[in-house]
Amino acid sequence: VEITVETPSKKYPVFIGNSALTELSNHLQQRNYTKLLVITDEKVGELHLNTLKDVLPKNDDVFFFQVPTGEKAKQFSVYEQCLTFALENGLDRKSCIIAFGGGAVGDLAGFTAATYMRGIPFIQVPTTILAHDSAVGGKTGINHPLGKNMIGSFHQPEAVFYYTTFLKTLPAHEIRSGFAEAVKHSLIADRDFYYYLLENIQDLQQVDEEKLNYILKKGIEIKAAVVAEDERESGLRAILNFGHTLGHVIEATAGYGKVTHGEAVMTGMVYALYLSEEVLGLQFDIETFKKWIEKLGYQSQLPKDFNFELGLAGMKRDKKSYANKPRFVLLEDIGKPVIQEISEDVLRSVFSSFSIN
Ligand code: NAD
Ligand code: ZN
Repeated sequence: VEITVETPSKKYPVFIGNSALTELSNHLQQRNYTKLLVITDEKVGELHLNTLKDVLPKNDDVFFFQVPTGEKAKQFSVYEQCLTFALENGLDRKSCIIAFGGGAVGDLAGFTAATYMRGIPFIQVPTTILAHDSAVGGKTGINHPLGKNMIGSFHQPEAVFYYTTFLKTLPAHEIRSGFAEAVKHSLIADRDFYYYLLENIQDLQQVDEEKLNYILKKGIEIKAAVVAEDERESGLRAILNFGHTLGHVIEATAGYGKVTHGEAVMTGMVYALYLSEEVLGLQFDIETFKKWIEKLGYQSQLPKDFNFELGLAGMKRDKKSYANKPRFVLLEDIGKPVIQEISEDVLRSVFSSFSIN
């Protein structure tokens, strides 16, 4: 399967499925980069690096750098190590960085590529479901001790090679994390896709490869269409934040690692759906949605120790809120997102019915 992402700054292909590694090998032969630097994390490196190595050139111009797993990859110190390693090994402007891992490795490796010698090419080889979201669109970056993703740049990859066999080793909570973003893509853009998911996915451990590839393809197409319209998030791209305003707060409150990003966003989407019903009269069967996601292992309710004041303070701090007013992505209908500021009163009353439900 091949999708073309077309943004103002670059047009590039996304290959999904069994042929993706062959396509990677072809790409490398055609482009003839001077050197390659593969950045991966310890876990992906251990599980899958040998498979990747099989399709890379076997010579002295290919280098490998392993970073810690998860958000620990997106630290200044690790970023600096990547730059140092690239300099020590003589990467130049015609070299290419290969991001081999999930969204964390993708963001780090992409940011390294974006800033090394003012920007060199990079390639995404995603290994998580979540990366169907993060590997497309060109946002790259690292964390600051004072905030996640606070340092970054827009830098589109040369191509994305999504070899979905890598996904077979994902633990359940990482599958849930990535699948939540696919659900998000369906809700903001494509009613049929949402009902397809609702009908076809009853157990996230038992999704056959054909269905998985279809879901990733649909998710990427939706993300690509949004990014094509608004590469640098001056407007439309903000709809991708559906479920994220509260989701980010849940994620931060639970402590990184306890609940994954997508799991927190899923709970955030339930809140955004209730808000949409209240504010915009959305017609949507929220009860069915909640039963479905619970069966898939998500929490449709807030963590016990979570209260409104905590939530509100966090939502006001959200990068996408202005002047301390929480801005929400709501749905007028499935596939019809709108962005709106919501008053504290409404946030509070919907919040209380949401938490006791
Ligand atoms: P991740 O890269 O941290 O991967 C999650 C965990 O799964 C890690 O422990 C990793 O080692 C492990 N893993 C990866 N592939 C595996 C495999 N095939 N088998 C077994 N384990 C595997 O995170 P993620 O969930 O993929 O992405 C989250 C990150 O993406 C966050 O840092 C977030 O900020 C970022 N993100 C970026 C964008 C963007 O547009 N740039 C969008 C969404 C999220
Ligand atoms: Zn997200």
